[in-house]
Amino acid sequence: MTNTSNNKSKAPNNLTILQRGEPILAQVAQTIHNVNSADIKQLIDDLTVTVAEAKGVGIAAPQVGKSLRLFLMCSAPSERYPDAPLLPITVVINPKIIKTSEQQVLGWEGCLSVKGKRALVPRYSDIDVSYIDETGALHNQHLTGFLARIFQHELDHLDGITFIERLDNDSDAIDELQWQKQQ
Ligand SMILES: [Zn+2]
Repeated sequence: MTNTSNNKSKAPNNLTILQRGEPILAQVAQTIHNVNSADIKQLIDDLTVTVAEAKGVGIAAPQVGKSLRLFLMCSAPSERYPDAPLLPITVVINPKIIKTSEQQVLGWEGCLSVKGKRALVPRYSDIDVSYIDETGALHNQHLTGFLARIFQHELDHLDGITFIERLDNDSDAIDELQWQKQQ
């Protein structure tokens, strides 16, 4: 089917996911001021396609080379995360963590920008967060468990941090194949 509408947004693209070592993944990303711009809409469409193709549970704009404070959470059980809860795709713009639990817990993480590695990463078990969605609506939410973990992982990407920087030693990360055998 050809696109004959006047809508300027193009068909969504499956974007290249950058790997750790790319400078943009170590930068603090910019606050988004115009949620309704065509560029942001296109970016959200592109990220939606890209994260589904990669079977990720989240993806942040810097991972596709856009240094903007935006990420998607799209938790669903998959080969990469068999125990992930099912959640509709959530667009998170200009996120903040308002409050955290005192306690951190260890849980296994991988990252589309750290291919082939998994590690036990400490994260707060409970967080209160605020963000705006793709319509500009403000959300205040309490997140626990795996969703709290995804939120903290993706927010880290907006601050130039990957899960490797959360480890005491780089060598605490193990190969994905080794991880699969342990499950
Ligand atoms: Zn990641």
